[in-house]
Amino acid sequence: MELYNTLGQKKLILEPHTEGKINMYTCGPTVYHYAHIGNLRTYIMEDVLEKSLRYTGYDVKRVMNITDVGHLSSDADTGEDKMLAGAKREHKTVMEIAKFYTDAFFEDCKKLNIKYPDVVEPATNCIDDFINMVSVLLEKGYAYRQGGNVYFDTSKLDNYYVFGNQNEDDLAVGVRDSVEEDENKRNKSDFVLWFTKSKFENQELKWDSPWGYGYPGWHIECSAISIKHLGEYLDIHCGGIDNAFPHHTNEIAQSEAFLGHKWCSHWFHVLHLNDARGKMSKSKGGFLTVSLLESKGYDPLVYRLFCLQSHYRKPLVFTYESLDNTAKAYDKLLKRVRDIYNNKNDDIKSDKELYGVYEEKFKEALNSDLNTSMALTVLYDVLKSDLSNNDKLEIISKFDYVLGLDLVKKAEAAEQNTESENQDTDTAEIEALIEKRTQARKNKDWATADAIRDELNARNVVIKDTPNGIEWSFRK
Ligand code: AMP
Ligand code: ZN
Repeated sequence: MELYNTLGQKKLILEPHTEGKINMYTCGPTVYHYAHIGNLRTYIMEDVLEKSLRYTGYDVKRVMNITDVGHLSSDADTGEDKMLAGAKREHKTVMEIAKFYTDAFFEDCKKLNIKYPDVVEPATNCIDDFINMVSVLLEKGYAYRQGGNVYFDTSKLDNYYVFGNQNEDDLAVGVRDSVEEDENKRNKSDFVLWFTKSKFENQELKWDSPWGYGYPGWHIECSAISIKHLGEYLDIHCGGIDNAFPHHTNEIAQSEAFLGHKWCSHWFHVLHLNDARGKMSKSKGGFLTVSLLESKGYDPLVYRLFCLQSHYRKPLVFTYESLDNTAKAYDKLLKRVRDIYNNKNDDIKSDKELYGVYEEKFKEALNSDLNTSMALTVLYDVLKSDLSNNDKLEIISKFDYVLGLDLVKKAEAAEQNTESENQDTDTAEIEALIEKRTQARKNKDWATADAIRDELNARNVVIKDTPNGIEWSFRK
């Protein structure tokens, strides 16, 4: 697979550290609020990436953290802890907030057909791992203690701004957050590995450490959790593009200083979902959630399709008008698959070569830097192809493993609904006929009663007079 790599800023053939296996790490949600559909764009595209890799034959292990401590309100390491702010807002404890929003996040993922990662690790489970990593960084001279906190010393690195696209003056943390500049830092780009002192002393969750009672920085959690579950070599690290700096830049700094070698080969970043106000973000408020879309009558999978229609490396603008267009396209797509499903014919076999051509084209689209809109085009090509309906269904199911649009599943469900609707109508009609027959007999209208009996007979209905009234069943 050829995939754009933010590290080096070009497309690169994926070369896993161990042949046939992919270690993949995803920055999980900060669980102080519902995920918005911008966050979910990132998770949908990461899901498509994971499934494309599996589809093309890789054995993938995917790990996701849950940020339930340490993410301060600025992307740098200043401000109040986002989790604590969420807990205050809802008059709950931090752990209550974390549980509630973690569950809500995975509910949303389920609705969007986003696969549950192989490992999900809350940061609060790994405090010992963070402490170990910080201790090693101190031992190796990459970190220093100052004013009660432990900091990473970015001056120890030859190249801190690894993604190369930052302007040091604009983005150096201290400059950007001049109001909050931390006097303890030796260099403006240094960042906190462990806090015991911050302006926000009321941090709810704290742990003992060699440097005092405190809590970890945000960046250390992803490095430590990834190394814990995926080892020293990571093949793909994913996240939204806003995470590239400083979060991922800091992850690389501390992981490589800790390990003593290159850590992650491929950095996959999804561009933002924007609305009329710019980047959708939790802290701005007024954001859109999956439940909100549902309450307006949209199937969550319409949003998944909306994301698949555009390339992950282009910003995506959300408007209800464009979502409505996608909803129409999704309805049409479902209808076409339903027609194929209802007219399937097991006996007809089609040209296997042609079948293979579509499979190849689909893989080719995914292998070209995850070109999902091209993959959708191949799906439409299959729908209008000369393949037999049976083969079409088979191939649609395979593609849908990656696309996650429930195309065949919904056609099956529609058939079952029609069957049970038919059955319901049958039952209601038969009971009405029996009632009519009873009335006719009471009125000694034998002609009507006999005609009804004949009709029931023709419909395979057997009636029996019992002391409790008339009982009926279908003839076996
Ligand atoms: P958070 O819960 O804020 O830690 O973010 C979870 C994920 O969503 C991260 O990978 C972010 O980079 C990503 N993200 C945040 N805002 C957006 C957005 N507007 N569009 C796409 N991805 C986003
Ligand atoms: Zn992370």
